[in-house]
Amino acid sequence: MPRNSAGRPVPANVAWYEPDDDGTVLVDHDPELGGHVTCPCTPGRGTPRFGEQCPVRQRQFMLQRRCGLCTETIGPTAQMAFVGETNAQYYLEPPLHQLCAAYALQVCPVLHAAGDGIEVALTSSYTLAEDRITGVTADRTLRRNVFPLGSPAAYHLAVLEFYLAFPGTPERHAAPTWLTRHAPKLPARTG
Ligand SMILES: [Zn+2]
Ligand SMILES: [Zn+2]
Repeated sequence: MPRNSAGRPVPANVAWYEPDDDGTVLVDHDPELGGHVTCPCTPGRGTPRFGEQCPVRQRQFMLQRRCGLCTETIGPTAQMAFVGETNAQYYLEPPLHQLCAAYALQVCPVLHAAGDGIEVALTSSYTLAEDRITGVTADRTLRRNVFPLGSPAAYHLAVLEFYLAFPGTPERHAAPTWLTRHAPKLPARTG
């Protein structure tokens, strides 16, 4: 994984900014997705913005069942992990290998600080919905709506930004408990 200036590995779904990036939301259009948010960022170039996802990579990982941390495919029968708030019905962050989830929970300061407020949902399957931008309010906040995957109305009316993952019958654990009792053990660190 590419690293930030502090030497910390940066998860693959994190957005990167280069100095000339003014933060404009770039919208493109194609026959497959309709209007959609695009992003030119390259992992390892510029500065990572933790907590902000690259919409292009987020959509790839969600569609292709790839891990949001390491980018590798998750096996068709593997139990994967979604990490989020307690009892979340859907996730904006792509699935993770269990080992990658264990790693993220140990090194990410935000997840670590949230303690019991964070849950690990294990599942072997998920379905997707579309998170689309439907407009902009007077104070320039984006209006958004959730649509079924491939909805023709959404295709014409709104701009796709992210996919949302709805896990199938998840087995839920509070993150600290999961880490100590169930998570795969990380290789011991040296040095
Ligand atoms: Zn990007
Ligand atoms: Zn992984």
